[in-house]
Amino acid sequence: MYKIAIAGTGAMGGRVGIQMAQAGYDVTLVDEWAEHIECINKEGMSVQTETSTYQYDIKARYPEQVTDTYDLIIVLTKAMDSETMIKKLNIAHAIKEDTAILTMMNGLGHDERFANIVPKSQIFLAVTMWTAGLKGPGQLLLEGTGTIELQRSDGHEDQRTIEINNVFNEAKLNSKISDDVFQSIWSKATLNSVLNPLCTILDKTINQFSQYPNTRQMIEPVIEEIVAVAKARGLELDFETLVNKIEAAYPIEAQGLHYPSMHQDLYKGRLTEIDYLNGQIVKYGKKVGIPTPNNEMLMHMIHQLELKAES
Ligand code: NAD
Repeated sequence: MYKIAIAGTGAMGGRVGIQMAQAGYDVTLVDEWAEHIECINKEGMSVQTETSTYQYDIKARYPEQVTDTYDLIIVLTKAMDSETMIKKLNIAHAIKEDTAILTMMNGLGHDERFANIVPKSQIFLAVTMWTAGLKGPGQLLLEGTGTIELQRSDGHEDQRTIEINNVFNEAKLNSKISDDVFQSIWSKATLNSVLNPLCTILDKTINQFSQYPNTRQMIEPVIEEIVAVAKARGLELDFETLVNKIEAAYPIEAQGLHYPSMHQDLYKGRLTEIDYLNGQIVKYGKKVGIPTPNNEMLMHMIHQLELKAES
């Protein structure tokens, strides 16, 4: 039996885990949030979709309680908690030598960080356009549709890549194997590195942000730096395509009514994923000698706001 653990079961982990369990897979949800774990084990996960609300029975465990080994571990903590989660699962012997560890988190550099803990050949990268929300502990909100693209982080396609893709498709997650997942990861990270910090700092929805006539002058310098850093790392990103992708999010019918997730995290008093977006661009820029002052300023401004949120 193909065994799957969701390492970090917030909103997205909940979606992926529940859909895979509904497809008949043996899924364990793993998380540190006590109220959430207790609630799921006691009453099942409450799942609200556009058409129905139901309770779904599924195993939920703290990392320390994990006793099984897994074929697939999907990492969906927030980026800053991911290494601790994998280390705990490693200590619990949940990871065997052929376990595929797949990250679907937003942001850059997860493969490099994970490679300090497990061999690169076990690391898989995915990027998703699905969304999910949590209304409270054990209460999942699943709306809309999405896609997943995945690839082994070293670019090799193996039997596990095909298996994971099949599992996702059986779980109706619209998955495909990519031949260059880094393009999609960097493209999504660019959108997140522009709209997340700007809408958070300005306290605006995406559409409110777009109403200012000079948004181009605000977003282009940030994107230019990202394109230059990517190029120095051997990845060609198309500047115009990225601008168009960001502007496509502006209309109310697209993502215009939403505050980006960074805004939601900050206003709930939680830390953000800024170090894995603009912060990672700054780090990569320093390595290759490319200045990234716009990304660096956005990173510092979000860190300032995080301090305020914590105090
Ligand atoms: P999330 O905030 O729902 O959950 C992340 C972690 O925070 C989980 O461990 C969860 O248990 C914990 N948590 C959540 N609410 C909490 C609370 N009130 N008290 C204590 N702990 C709490 O995060 P997510 O949205 O599932 O994101 C996981 C990863 O997936 C991130 O990298 C994110 O950028 C990415 N992602 C999310 C979405 C989405 O729509 N949610 C879409 C694409 C990618």
